[in-house]
Amino acid sequence: MEDVQKRRRSIEERNRIKQKRRQALIRKRRMRSLLLFIIMMIPFIVTGESKASEKPESITIQVNDVYMIEDQETPIFDVDIICTGDDERIIDSENQVMLKNLILELENGNGYNIYTETDGTLEGDYDIKISLDESCQESLLYHWLGNVTICCEGAVLHVENKYGQWQENQFLDYDGNQVKDQFIEVKGETYYLDEQGKPFTGVMRLGLIQYTFDTEGVLIQEAEGIDPEQPMIAITLDDGPGAYTDRVLDVLEAYNSHATFFMVGSNVSETYASELQRMVALGCELGNHTTNHPNLNNLSASQISTEMETTNRLITELAGQEPTVMRPPYGSANSFVAENVGLPMVFWNVDTLDWKTKDVDQIVQHILENAADGDIILLHDIHETSVEALEIAIPLLVEQGYQLVTVSELAEARGVELVDGGSYYSFPTT
Ligand code: ZN
Repeated sequence: MEDVQKRRRSIEERNRIKQKRRQALIRKRRMRSLLLFIIMMIPFIVTGESKASEKPESITIQVNDVYMIEDQETPIFDVDIICTGDDERIIDSENQVMLKNLILELENGNGYNIYTETDGTLEGDYDIKISLDESCQESLLYHWLGNVTICCEGAVLHVENKYGQWQENQFLDYDGNQVKDQFIEVKGETYYLDEQGKPFTGVMRLGLIQYTFDTEGVLIQEAEGIDPEQPMIAITLDDGPGAYTDRVLDVLEAYNSHATFFMVGSNVSETYASELQRMVALGCELGNHTTNHPNLNNLSASQISTEMETTNRLITELAGQEPTVMRPPYGSANSFVAENVGLPMVFWNVDTLDWKTKDVDQIVQHILENAADGDIILLHDIHETSVEALEIAIPLLVEQGYQLVTVSELAEARGVELVDGGSYYSFPTT
């Protein structure tokens, strides 16, 4: 991003210089006009009338080349109005129009149209075309004929790649650094530059997405799916949604990952409607963590039922999808609870103790040292420290080759069918 801004600044700088040059040109022309005016006035004073020169004056409307970077705003076209003739000359005697009136109009951008056949989203060189508008063409034919001719000169709009440029075998950004470990787009095609900066060919997995590149390195297929042969982990987040839930979703999205959110009904309100909808859109799993977070072991069947049903209804109303799993608060559930919750009961086997330590480094370290294939990790998205830890841990886990999946995806990949009232702690390979 920084490079793009830098590049854009240099383009703006260049356009500013052109603008200045143009203003200088106009000043120069004004001085010249004044001088010409004085000279012209001499015969006028003597004879009492201005004598029209025989040859028509000529004006050139010249657009200059412009540079821009893909996806940035199209720059304002830089136009010079060049006139070599006598600008006091009357070109339309009926309306008493002098050449300089016409020049002023043109300088104000009237009388012509500029267009280019690009929306600036794809690199390349595009013609900037310029043409006189209808009224100007009409005036040339009927009012100014014989007095002035107008010539239009187009230019080129250079749209440059937003990532950088190939230079021999290296793709360099605008600071001259080689681009590595990154997706780039060149002329509408997507490539992935590996750790040596070479286009990756073949099949690559990144999170839950499988990318297929052809022998030239062009991305030809992008498919989401879990590879049962590759290791996977289920991250679970309790007690939300909250103020930091969106940040969890941001990092999950950036790394093509899923998680399961065990939400408390008392927090499931209109305030977090967009977070709930985003969970669904990103392929995350909705979990029920009761309505008031009680110890379910102390409740009657109907109380358990109310705790569960209220949250099921709240989540469904906001997310448009029902919770598929539940987690008993404090991880406490006896057989009576199991009989009454009406959903699979998901526990965990990696407890980060994030709510207790509230220490980002410790949480990250705990995850990295303890999490392995088939594990269910417990975290709480209501604490900012937990979310910060995930922002560090998720990229690292993905880099280590873990697929971050929902609880149900993990169970399915391991051939386990989740049943209502069943207890699940992890899904190791057998
Ligand atoms: Zn809880």
